[in-house]
Amino acid sequence: MLLNDILENLKAYSSEKCCKHDKQYTYGEFYEIVCKVYELIKDAPKDKPIVVYGHKEVYMIASFLACSFLGIAYVPIDKMMSKERVKFIIDSVNPSFIIGDCSVNGDYKTISFNQIEEYYNYEDIVRIDMKPEDVYYILFTSGTSGNPKGVMVTYENIDSCVKWLKRISGLESHIDNYTIYNQAVFSFDLSVADIYLSLATGSNHYIGEDISILKFQKLYDDLKTSNSNMMILTPSSAELMATDYQFNQTLMPHLNQILFCGERLTHKLVDKLYQRFPDIKIINSYGPTEATFAVTSIDIPKDYKDIIPIGYPKDDVEILIVDNMIPKSEGEVGEILITGKSVAKGYLDDNNNSKFIMYNGKKGYLTGDLGFYKDNKLYFVSRKDTQVKYKGYRIELSDIENNILSIDGVRNCKVKAEKSDSEEVKRIIAYIVLEENADASKIKESISNKLPQYMIPTLQFVDSLSLTLNGKSEI
Ligand code: AMP
Repeated sequence: MLLNDILENLKAYSSEKCCKHDKQYTYGEFYEIVCKVYELIKDAPKDKPIVVYGHKEVYMIASFLACSFLGIAYVPIDKMMSKERVKFIIDSVNPSFIIGDCSVNGDYKTISFNQIEEYYNYEDIVRIDMKPEDVYYILFTSGTSGNPKGVMVTYENIDSCVKWLKRISGLESHIDNYTIYNQAVFSFDLSVADIYLSLATGSNHYIGEDISILKFQKLYDDLKTSNSNMMILTPSSAELMATDYQFNQTLMPHLNQILFCGERLTHKLVDKLYQRFPDIKIINSYGPTEATFAVTSIDIPKDYKDIIPIGYPKDDVEILIVDNMIPKSEGEVGEILITGKSVAKGYLDDNNNSKFIMYNGKKGYLTGDLGFYKDNKLYFVSRKDTQVKYKGYRIELSDIENNILSIDGVRNCKVKAEKSDSEEVKRIIAYIVLEENADASKIKESISNKLPQYMIPTLQFVDSLSLTLNGKSEI
């Protein structure tokens, strides 16, 4: 299984490139960090998760692996998360350790990355304690209630995902000096694909710079230095990279494939990429965090004219189109129901895992996505609810709304997504009615303490949310 392959690679490719962030680490150097963390947490209880809190550090990945070899679930948290959310996540998982940033209040045992660096008492790892049904990681994603919800992904889920990723990317055997570029922070499931595909194939995992319009030149310099062969991206981040013509084959001469996931892939982006990288392979894939990164894929060739599909299901899942659990026929639009090996264990502390169901004796997840089949290919249409993707991030509009409503001084609030003709979210706006004498600047400050940066909407303070006849606000 996955961890056996990784442990073998850690030992077999000791002088080859493994991970790059602040500096380049070889497999040997990286393995040493894994062994140190393993030693530091080896007596931790197996039934309590470990939080790994940081921002794209190689030490985070080494900590994930140490937990996994010990059969302990890890919870990745990125520093981009707002303080209140970090506190909520940590308190709800009640970890045995927090590794990385130790500034969180509470009686938790902590291990800083410096402590790991300075620790020299370690031995070879010879045991793998993770079992297929064990929880491998818990990823938190936007929840309708206003609190993030933790998705528990098992070892069997991730193992199946990586086997499939190897096949669709043609990386079934080790290729010397192959580099996979990481763009996503480790608390999003897009990063699961690049981390584990790299480690399972003995490739180099290049942890890229944050994408920011303000630092474009830094991004292009980083892309060039990375000398990457493969990237796993959301269409939004590829659009951002392609803003400048510098993003082309001259900058990245060895880039031979881009795997997309997370959002609708457009013809405009596909055409632009084929102009800039004529020999590239473009793969579109689809899936929610609850089904372990992705469950469908398809290569999108040059000059593809039809509607872009999300592809064919992976072998060990069955994907159905249903309406109230009744299957629809080919061509009919309905909710996408995923069943089989990729479906996660469920949400943490969820009393009615209503979206996780049993279907024909198999575990299933009702995605809330609408789609249809045509010629065995699956197509994405839209969402059934108010969950959106904004700049690649999954956001429940009611998550923002409930957080704003919980602030003292806010009388009412309605959050809306402004979309383009092609359904792309251009802006998220919160219409807010304040209590008398409430201070708008204090409300703004509270919002930024509660929500991560990417969820902070454009604020519009209004006198009232006008009411329609059925009593619902009209804005
Ligand atoms: P996440 O859990 O952040 O990976 O987000 C999952 C959601 O992203 C899905 O339920 C879809 O709504 C959307 N999504 C993922 N992949 C695609 C795709 N290829 N095309 C359109 N939407 C997608």
